[in-house]
Amino acid sequence: MKEFLRQLVQVETTAEKGELAAAQIIAAELHRSGIDCRIDGWVQNRANITAQVKSSGSKAALLFVSHLDVVGPGEASWSHPPFAAVQSDGKIYGRGTVDMKGAIAAIVTAIRQIVDSHAQLQGDIILFGAAGEETNSCGAKRFISNCGTMPKLAGVVVTEPTDFEVVTAHRGLLWLKIVTKGKAAHGSTPELGINAIASMKYLLDELENYKIPFEPHHLLGECSMSINTIAGGKEINIVPDICTVGIDIRTLPAQNHEDIVQDFEKIFAQLKQRNSQFTAEVSVVRDVGALETDCSCDFVMDFCSFMGTSQTKAVGFTTDGPYFSSLGVPVVIFGPGKPELCHKPDEFIEISDVEKAVQYYKNIILEFLT
Ligand SMILES: [Zn+2]
Repeated sequence: MKEFLRQLVQVETTAEKGELAAAQIIAAELHRSGIDCRIDGWVQNRANITAQVKSSGSKAALLFVSHLDVVGPGEASWSHPPFAAVQSDGKIYGRGTVDMKGAIAAIVTAIRQIVDSHAQLQGDIILFGAAGEETNSCGAKRFISNCGTMPKLAGVVVTEPTDFEVVTAHRGLLWLKIVTKGKAAHGSTPELGINAIASMKYLLDELENYKIPFEPHHLLGECSMSINTIAGGKEINIVPDICTVGIDIRTLPAQNHEDIVQDFEKIFAQLKQRNSQFTAEVSVVRDVGALETDCSCDFVMDFCSFMGTSQTKAVGFTTDGPYFSSLGVPVVIFGPGKPELCHKPDEFIEISDVEKAVQYYKNIILEFLT
């Protein structure tokens, strides 16, 4: 299993390189136990993988969802090369070890061991490995729009790192791009142009006092907003005609993303009334709903009692989970590794956690499907 995990890390499934190589490694691993799978590939090596272990069909199926892609290694230096999958002190280091190739190695190994043991399954095991979770959820969206023939599901387990906590809620995200538009002019005659950077400053001053109106959530806290990118101007002697900011908004369940976009449009209209030269446009870069699974449903209650906990938790990051809850199926997030290591330099996973995850996933499958 360690070698399998190391191979998954070494294939560098960033947005630039795509997921195809990881899908092929998983397919080869599943074939060792005679498990068929389907790789669905499209442009630029993007790939989803789906495997289904058939059963007698007397019980509803379990769907395990992982993502194959990883974020880039970032600018900071690493003490081990980010895609070498170096093993040291009982850990494997590398981008994607926690988020979430450790979990993929564990769930694939668990499914293989179940199949190799000839367990009499009454419900199908479905494994879905998604492309693009870190960028635009293209893989999950593609799977959902083509999944018409799937058997009835008892529940979905998203194998993101939760350090073995049972997670049923996370905030959504709404990424906005705002562009202020001006008029270019020679830098020596600024009065003939409209400075888009000055317009952006006008807007940013207004946003200093703006808070998205919404009641805090008992598990997830507040809705948050942060302006995280800014770009404007090409040359020091040209009045800029465009300035752009990127805003990261994290939303709560039941919060309407469309309302937030409309709020920004209202602010633009007010600023335009005060200053007729002000022009701005907002567009949505990414939009993922929040997740809130009903903790009193049978699936979550059974999952929790089986894990020996009475409490489900919330996490700060988002997942592909909401796309699956849109099918009307309960979704829990449960996997190995510390979530605070995600997307950071020197990301690592404890090998013992991956081994523990194999046991947990096997027990979950046996509990729900036999
Ligand atoms: Zn992840």
